[in-house]
Amino acid sequence: MVGHRMRYAEVSVNSPVAQRRFFSYAIPPDLDVVVGQAVWVPFGDKILQGIVLELTPYPSVEETKEIAGIIESRPLLSPFHVLLACWISGHYLSPLFDAVALMLPPGFERKALTFISIPSIPDDLDLSSLTQGQRHVLELVQRQGKVGLKQLERILGKKKAQTIVSQLVRRGLAVRSYELEKVKVKPKMVSYLHLAVEADEAQQEATRLRERRANKQADLLNFLIRQPRPLPLAEVRKSALYSAAAIKALVSKGLVRMEQVEVTREPISYEGITPSQPLTLSPAQESAWQAIRSGLPWGRKGSTLSPVFLLHGVTGSGKTEIYLQALAEIVKQGKRGIVLVPEIALTPQTIERFASRFFHKVAVLHSQLSPGEQFDEWRRIRDGEFDVVIGSRSAIFAPQPDLGLIVIDEEHEWTYKQHDKSPRYHTRDVAIKLAELTGAVVILGSATPDVETFYRAQRGDYQLLQLPERVTPGEGAFLPQVEIVDLREELKAGNRSLFSRSLSQSVAEALANREQVILFLNRRGTASFIQCRNCGFVLRCKRCEVALTYHFADDMLVCHQCNYRVPVPQVCPQCLSPRVKFLGIGTQKVEQEAGYTFPQARLLRWDSDVTKRKRSHEEILGKFRAHKADVLIGTQMIAKGLDLPLITLVGVVSADTGLNLPDFRAGERTFQLLCQVAGRAGRGSLGGRVIIQTYSPGHYAIQAAAKHDYASFYNTEINYRRQLHNPPFSRLACLTYSHRNDALCQREAERMRNRLTEEIESRGIADLSLIGPAPAFIHRLRGRFRWQLILRGAEPSALLSQIPIPQGWAVDIDPVGLT
Ligand code: ADP
Ligand code: ZN
Ligand code: ZN
Repeated sequence: MVGHRMRYAEVSVNSPVAQRRFFSYAIPPDLDVVVGQAVWVPFGDKILQGIVLELTPYPSVEETKEIAGIIESRPLLSPFHVLLACWISGHYLSPLFDAVALMLPPGFERKALTFISIPSIPDDLDLSSLTQGQRHVLELVQRQGKVGLKQLERILGKKKAQTIVSQLVRRGLAVRSYELEKVKVKPKMVSYLHLAVEADEAQQEATRLRERRANKQADLLNFLIRQPRPLPLAEVRKSALYSAAAIKALVSKGLVRMEQVEVTREPISYEGITPSQPLTLSPAQESAWQAIRSGLPWGRKGSTLSPVFLLHGVTGSGKTEIYLQALAEIVKQGKRGIVLVPEIALTPQTIERFASRFFHKVAVLHSQLSPGEQFDEWRRIRDGEFDVVIGSRSAIFAPQPDLGLIVIDEEHEWTYKQHDKSPRYHTRDVAIKLAELTGAVVILGSATPDVETFYRAQRGDYQLLQLPERVTPGEGAFLPQVEIVDLREELKAGNRSLFSRSLSQSVAEALANREQVILFLNRRGTASFIQCRNCGFVLRCKRCEVALTYHFADDMLVCHQCNYRVPVPQVCPQCLSPRVKFLGIGTQKVEQEAGYTFPQARLLRWDSDVTKRKRSHEEILGKFRAHKADVLIGTQMIAKGLDLPLITLVGVVSADTGLNLPDFRAGERTFQLLCQVAGRAGRGSLGGRVIIQTYSPGHYAIQAAAKHDYASFYNTEINYRRQLHNPPFSRLACLTYSHRNDALCQREAERMRNRLTEEIESRGIADLSLIGPAPAFIHRLRGRFRWQLILRGAEPSALLSQIPIPQGWAVDIDPVGLT
């Protein structure tokens, strides 16, 4: 060994009080400790899990305790992941272990079990010097070799067991060791039915059963006789022959056996998937590909910086084919990749496409896998068994070795931000950091890039590559025609229905042609703003420009950024109409009214209320795909993954619901969603059209979406952002305080505002402003009221990292969306 032995370890400890701190521990001489390893450490009077983040020759505090043991000798985090965890904790101001935990194998966070064993009893031990209890424990441990503390506690009582063990350990007669409690991973069992007798005998029995008119049993028996091998119960269930009573009767007569067979967990079934070859790229794809290729690790010359590419192209422009070819290239170079897609896009079709190109070399990670499956996948990924890991948000933390490429498809999706628990990270930023650490390349793909991403690409931080057209010539190559309907005109013409004349007529035509229709609302539930039904006017905050939110309780309009309040006006300030309190619409309302207007149509509703159950997504989709319904009514979810040839009409019932959310990103969100839903129509040879109903037909987001014109949307949007000093021209930090008592919440928020104002003034920070406090958009969540403060400026986290944040506050750096 060269130089100093590293005698100390800096450890991230799994305790809520650890916060963003490392803790120094001495390394006992007999332990081999390495960075990234999981260890047991004493913490207060407990033994907790920790991950070694650094080895040092000197401790950072005077008094250190010793590491108590090693949980697993093989490191769980690579050196890159250790650096990434530290970056996440620093950047998002999250507890260090929260960041570390993102990268640990599923099921890692378990309690320590204490065991007692006896190294060797000294020959000269005077047994009479021991108490009866001590002798009792010694004998027991000696007999069994190793005894769990839990077992001793059951025999002797908790207190007594712990005292005796401590006494024995102090005298050097016993030692403690620690193990993780076992993960409970259940094997997956499947029931099979098979004949319990020879086929001839079964045949005779079947005849006899039929004579006795036990037809169900006879049919089932005949069916089983014809099967060449045992049949999964699930398959019988799907057939018309299924009868639980008949199965029970046949089993009790000894004619049929039901057996439980353990099956291996294989997240991807390769059954029905055939290996596929790369396609010949179109000229547009080819030029994008050449740019990416020269940026891949081995093609890179001179510069050491890992490039980030933004691949901007409409759906169907061939982005995925480029991802596949880039992955193939890095695999050729001996590297591996990670592909991220939004959870909802992680469909069997997506997985199949990657699995057929990288046959048996694709791992899948997502939240619907069982803990056992996740655990198995994690281990196999770490062992380098896969060329490609595909998954939703958290797959960015997969222990994929030799990382060469990270792809983020639909990079603008808000689900890439984890907003509901710490660390409140954004997958895109984490991916770019990880690429920087590992030398990997990042490809961001989108039809409607995030305005901030596009701004960075314009500025040259990212390399912009564009695919302006759909690949496939002919069928479905053209984007659908979009018509904007001005709802103000409908009311004037005496139409009080939710559906404009144009939409009603088009739906009727589509139904007459046996085609399918989507009716889309870009927000679930009822809207939170009020609108003049006559002219579409929406009241906005004078200071913040955002739409005011209606509060039922006190009939007031409130700004959720600065807490500005006004009573609801009696008449519209713009057109003086008294119909000023129109409260938007929800999916149920649309379903109801579609029922009256199109009584002949078969309706299907798809929103989060009906899709709470696992797999119901696929059920609803399957039903619509099989043309068992004519009209699909839904929210956001509809916008993705639907690629059906019979859909010839998409009606956006009200584009305004999303447009008037109190959020500076409302325009962007509306544009993205409208483009996405519009892309759902006309995927087949029948062509298609889109009708957008709105009270703001002139709004730039709606105008641009109707023309599929990203550039014009972006140019308007980026100017607003610049004028109002919103991201990317500033950064935000959102502080949320929650408590059961609303008034207390407000007081605490005000106290924090004063505190921050003082800090800003005393430090002389000029470019940092404070917005709020105000009730959060979701004012009450799971029984707790919530108040928010927003810090806006060049580096709000620089200030926040230097002041202690009291209990009860949640900090969200670079927040996205309303929470
Ligand atoms: P995107 O990811 O941009 O939506 P895809 O890569 O999925 O686009 O391409 C859309 C369709 O066109 C797919 O069916 C794909 O198989 C096909 N496709 C893509 N590239 C080519 C190509 N170079 N030649 C022929 N077909 C292609
Ligand atoms: Zn009005
Ligand atoms: Zn305001």
